[in-house]
Amino acid sequence: MLMPNKNPAPRNAMSIDVEDYFQVSAFAPYIRRDDWNGLECRVERNIGRILALLADKQVHATFFTLGWIAERYPQVVKAIVAGGHELASHGYGHERASDLSPAAFLEDIASAKKLLEDLGGVPVVGYRAPSFSIGKGNLWAFDMLRDAGYRYSSSVYPIAHDHYGMPDSPRFAYPVREGLLEIPVTTLRVGSRNLPSSGGGYFRLLPYALSRWMIRRVNEIDGESAVFYFHPWEIDPGQPRVAGVDAKSRFRHYVNISRTEGRIARLLEDFRWGRMDEIFLGREAAPRALVPSLSPA
Ligand SMILES: [Zn+2]
Repeated sequence: MLMPNKNPAPRNAMSIDVEDYFQVSAFAPYIRRDDWNGLECRVERNIGRILALLADKQVHATFFTLGWIAERYPQVVKAIVAGGHELASHGYGHERASDLSPAAFLEDIASAKKLLEDLGGVPVVGYRAPSFSIGKGNLWAFDMLRDAGYRYSSSVYPIAHDHYGMPDSPRFAYPVREGLLEIPVTTLRVGSRNLPSSGGGYFRLLPYALSRWMIRRVNEIDGESAVFYFHPWEIDPGQPRVAGVDAKSRFRHYVNISRTEGRIARLLEDFRWGRMDEIFLGREAAPRALVPSLSPA
């Protein structure tokens, strides 16, 4: 006789950062912001494919959407909401939080929230900073997020990386201000290091079985929900190639891009998934203690 499993694996959070291939931070030296309007947009096509895939697998996810995209593609915002997904904010113009003054950051996150709420007709309580750009140098950003009415952020990557990361910050969701949770994307602890195990270029680079193993370990050993993320351009081998890009950025952007959609489909089948707000703010959420060390001194 089969014994009932007393501790089923926690549900994981699936998230998509809604931006186009030319808005990626690593391409900023090669594509002027002023030129964005004249470039071929692929985001509507790619979000359509993602929505179809999620519907097929009966998964609801969180879409961290740029205000810049929402303004030009309101039908994309409406389709996300109509699909039962969580509409969340990726800021307005994909500027790194670490490149903005506190006032400019507040303007960016508040305008994006209002725009998304007006177009989507739903409250927007989640935010992810472009390129995980909240770290030691700009912890004031959490105060601004709270003041703008957000309830969670998914903006700190607890790894060492050349573009972002705060390797000694907590690996799992924690209240970072009164009423504001920080929900880091997922890492696996190996020895004294945190290995990225939750999407982006690493998911495209590593064999699928290794990515799956890392998420299972987090579910089983840490007993925590994983937070996975990907971008619409990562399932689009037909996107226009950006000319002149340095070898490292080119590799990171294009590696295994033709395999990603199939791998995401497997991931959706191999685990149970849900929206960030359901998993971390809803009834499933575990109580968590405030982390005062991450307040500005
Ligand atoms: Zn982004």
